[in-house]
Amino acid sequence: MDVDDIEWYGWEMDSVVRCRCGQIPVRRVAFEGCFTGRRFISCCYDDETRCDFLSWYDPEWPPTMQRALEKLWGMGEAKEKQIHAELNSLMNKMFEDKLTAEKEVVKLQGEADSLVEEKVKLHTQFLKMEAEKEIVFQKLQEKKKWILIAVSCNVTLVAVLAYVIPLKIIM
Ligand SMILES: [Zn+2]
Repeated sequence: MDVDDIEWYGWEMDSVVRCRCGQIPVRRVAFEGCFTGRRFISCCYDDETRCDFLSWYDPEWPPTMQRALEKLWGMGEAKEKQIHAELNSLMNKMFEDKLTAEKEVVKLQGEADSLVEEKVKLHTQFLKMEAEKEIVFQKLQEKKKWILIAVSCNVTLVAVLAYVIPLKIIM
């Protein structure tokens, strides 16, 4: 791994050295472990075709500097692991929340279906009651008709009797 440096980057034009690909090397600055900050030249390619040619420009750092750099990188990696763990935990929590929400949706859908079924049942019962009401009403109408007929007959009978009885008394 390497980084660009404003004072040390670009082609190593003055060099007579060529990489294994036969290309003019480029200047880079190491950004990895105890090599961090050391300048070097290497292959110009940035992809997987880059050959393994590498020539250090700076000497090795003193051991104390190397240990300090290793420690810094270790701290960085520890922090990175912590962030990954927190991120994973957060992702798991989000996934669990999503599952819970999906279960809740299914439950609510079930309840909604039950309510619709209940509504249909109630409507059917209402229609049945309306039909029964109509039958009772028709029966009442029938009874009313017969009561009227009976009352009319009685009235007629009374009227006839009221006419016949005085006639008998006269005769
Ligand atoms: Zn090369």
